[in-house]
Amino acid sequence: MAELNSEQIDELKKNLQEREQVLRDDIRREMNLQDSYADVAAEVPDPGDASFADLSVDLGNAAVTRDLTELRAVQNAYARMDNGTYGECVNCGIEIPYERLKVQPTAERCAPCQMQREKTHIDTMKGSTM
Ligand SMILES: [Zn+2]
Repeated sequence: MAELNSEQIDELKKNLQEREQVLRDDIRREMNLQDSYADVAAEVPDPGDASFADLSVDLGNAAVTRDLTELRAVQNAYARMDNGTYGECVNCGIEIPYERLKVQPTAERCAPCQMQREKTHIDTMKGSTM
């Protein structure tokens, strides 16, 4: 684990949970706007569920797709907290500054690596990057 103390981790986890709630509410609302999908609106599947990705594609709804992508990033952040890699850049392994994590608790990379990635992968991770 990067050198975040437990208070900082708790704070970031709280931010993630609040963000997750907002995203889930958004997804439900977006789905409710589409009558034909009223049935699935009652239950947002787990991001780990294979049908989750299909769902966003089927909907063809950019807002929902973006929310689902970010929700997946939130889930990934929880997983990294559990396995002790949270706060480390997945590219270079340095500690991501707490200030950056506070702004974006789902950040997987330090700022330089993120900028590099956005230059080379301009079409991926939209909605979950700075
Ligand atoms: Zn890095």
